[in-house]
Parts: sequence; structure tokens; C-alpha cells
Amino acid sequence: MSDCIFCKIVDGEIPSEKVYEDDKVVAFNDVNPQSPVHILVIPKRHISSVKEIDDDNSHLVSHIHLVINKIAKDKGLYEKGFRIVNNCGEDGGQTVNHLHYHLLGGRQLKWPPG
Ligand code: AMP
Repeated sequence: MSDCIFCKIVDGEIPSEKVYEDDKVVAFNDVNPQSPVHILVIPKRHISSVKEIDDDNSHLVSHIHLVINKIAKDKGLYEKGFRIVNNCGEDGGQTVNHLHYHLLGGRQLKWPPG
């Protein structure tokens, strides 16, 4: 059995507040939100990070972007804008080794990140 917490969320072994699901991806509220809207969008298939994106699975990334646009509209972020973040590896601040995109919005976000 996988030790990956996001695989367990996909399988329903760990509870989550899901906001979207289809055959390829799941989106759920981040447990430690950094903005009024903070949603994680993940592929159901285990992919460790963006470093594992290849010709076989890159269609999932474009699909994730379509889903993010849909969620951004549903959550009222579309007009004022939002941010999509992917952290990769130790220096990138990745803490969960299952590909995920943060969708952040609902306040003015600062740049550059810390
Ligand atoms: P990252 O640091 O980019 O790997 O992001 C991992 C994110 O997963 C963090 O923002 C955590 O707050 C979030 N997270 C960890 N465990 C859970 C969980 N069980 N449910 C929802 N979000 C989680």
C-alpha cells in the first residue's frame, strides 16, 4: 500500500474537503490555507513531482489547468485573478511528493515569494 498521503486522499482513506473530482484529478481545500481560497489540484495517478512529467503523462498537466480555470470561476476568482504554484524538490519547498498545484486567491498576493 502506498504511504503517499495524497494517494490516500484520492482513495478516500484520508478525509478531505473535495471541491472537484473527475476520472483524472481531484481538487480539495488545503488543510493549512495561505489565502481565503487555497485549493490543491492533483492527478489521481501518483506522479512524484514536475520532474516526472513526460510524454505519457503531460496531458494531465493541461487537464489540471482546465480544471483550475473552472474552479477559479466557481470560486469567484476569475475577475480579480489568482495564483497557481507548484513547488518542486527541497529548495522549491515541496513537502508532499505527489504532484500538486496550489490555486491561491481571494486576496492581493505578494511577489516575490519568500
Ligand atoms: P507543498 O509544500 O507544495 O508540497 O504543499 C503541500 C501542501 O499540502 C501544503 O500546503 C499542506 O498544507 C497541504 N496538505 C498536507 N496534508 C494535507 C491534507 N491531509 N489535506 C489537505 N492539504 C494537505
